[in-house]
Amino acid sequence: MRYVSTRGAAPALGFAEAMLTGLARDGGLYVPETVPTLSTGQIAALAGLDYEEAAFRVMRPFVGDAFTDDEFQGAIARAYRGFGHAARAPLVQLAPNHFLLELFHGPTLAFKDFAMQLIGQLFQIALARDGRRIAIVGATSGDTGSAAIEAFRGLANVDVFILYPHGRVSEVQRRQMTTPAEANVHALALDGDFDDCQSRLKDMFNDFAFRDEVGLAGVNSINWARVLAQVVYYFTAAVSLGAPHRKVGFTVPTGNFGDIFAGYIARRMGLPIDRLVIATNQNDILHRCLTGGAYRTEGVRPSISPSMDIQISSNFERALFDAYGRDGVAIGRIMDELKQTGAFAVSQGALHWLRDQFASGRVSEEETLATIRAVHAATGELLCPHTAVGVRVAQGHLGAAPMVTLATAHPAKFPDAVEAATGLRSALPPRMADLFARPERVTRVANDLRAIESIVRERRRR
Ligand SMILES: *Cc1c(COP(=O)(O)O)cnc(C)c1O
Repeated sequence: MRYVSTRGAAPALGFAEAMLTGLARDGGLYVPETVPTLSTGQIAALAGLDYEEAAFRVMRPFVGDAFTDDEFQGAIARAYRGFGHAARAPLVQLAPNHFLLELFHGPTLAFKDFAMQLIGQLFQIALARDGRRIAIVGATSGDTGSAAIEAFRGLANVDVFILYPHGRVSEVQRRQMTTPAEANVHALALDGDFDDCQSRLKDMFNDFAFRDEVGLAGVNSINWARVLAQVVYYFTAAVSLGAPHRKVGFTVPTGNFGDIFAGYIARRMGLPIDRLVIATNQNDILHRCLTGGAYRTEGVRPSISPSMDIQISSNFERALFDAYGRDGVAIGRIMDELKQTGAFAVSQGALHWLRDQFASGRVSEEETLATIRAVHAATGELLCPHTAVGVRVAQGHLGAAPMVTLATAHPAKFPDAVEAATGLRSALPPRMADLFARPERVTRVANDLRAIESIVRERRRR
């Protein structure tokens, strides 16, 4: 199995190298050269399996010879054993024909654990085999950083440094990053905002001498292995609801387009997905693009669903690559235009293709709160604000096929929005009830590249 860049000018790589590299050297994103398919019989046979076995069968064809079956099965088992629910990704019914897929039973209470826990295990195997050490450096507005720390804490061969904007993450998010006691975990509170964190991260990756010296690696959402891990729960959910013998729709609260792109891959693999619906908050670049045909960045407007507050939706490039008939030169051109002018117009053919694959909707702040309130009143379920955005959009797309909305975080991770809507505070699950009692460990850093680089140099273990 080979992976090619969406810009067509980087070398094709195997699964392990694509995972360890992250971003391709031509600035593009890695995608599989061809998408393997599962037969109707193979999909039907997933019914009733435990999550780990289903995960192995769905992902195996993408891995090639990068890992043996034993290695891959072991990684999957270790990745999900810490989840707080036996089903890993259970379904809950909200209304006739409308279901929630609860993706928040992992260690940091957001869906990012599904991918991050797995790539932590896979990195470990690949690095031990080559006797390599790396320093993972990430920037986060909250959820990605805590998921990365949980996934890599205590692993040999890896140090993990996470930059977050000082004073701008929720207390639960901060504590999840600052309370792990392992010596390879380094939480860095930067004096600046999330854009500053991302800019310093980019500067570090562009400092090639430093990059080679410390073995810099990234695990942000463009990493192909993260997308792949998310394909699995589309299969387990759809099969529970009658696939492959009937179609199932999905609505996905979307920011960087990683999670919904995984749904698109599931469909390409042969899963009969009815509608695939993009749900955005007031930062609605994707919805505007699908309805108006222009991809135009505007300033980020901070919302109560902060993990979807994005300017540029990085993984959308993967969908555009298919929309433009896998023409890497065309993708390179529109991405240059985006960089220079902040916008590009999607070609008629590509727009037609995108509208064929995806529907979309946008939800205001008031509607988000009203949805949390209404769903609680009707069902007793508390929704996190991201999930509420999804539920609201899904309500406009209900039809004959069952609709599944992805519940991307636990309500206790965003207690202020839940309380504003319902007057209730959602409790943390018992396994992390002592989060507020654990000691914190964090280093405050200036918004200065050299200062951050010297911390990474000094702290990493050798
Ligand atoms: C990251 C995140 C999202 C957005 O996911 P993408 O893959 O970036 O589209 C939605 N909800 C929550 C809670 C998240 O952490």
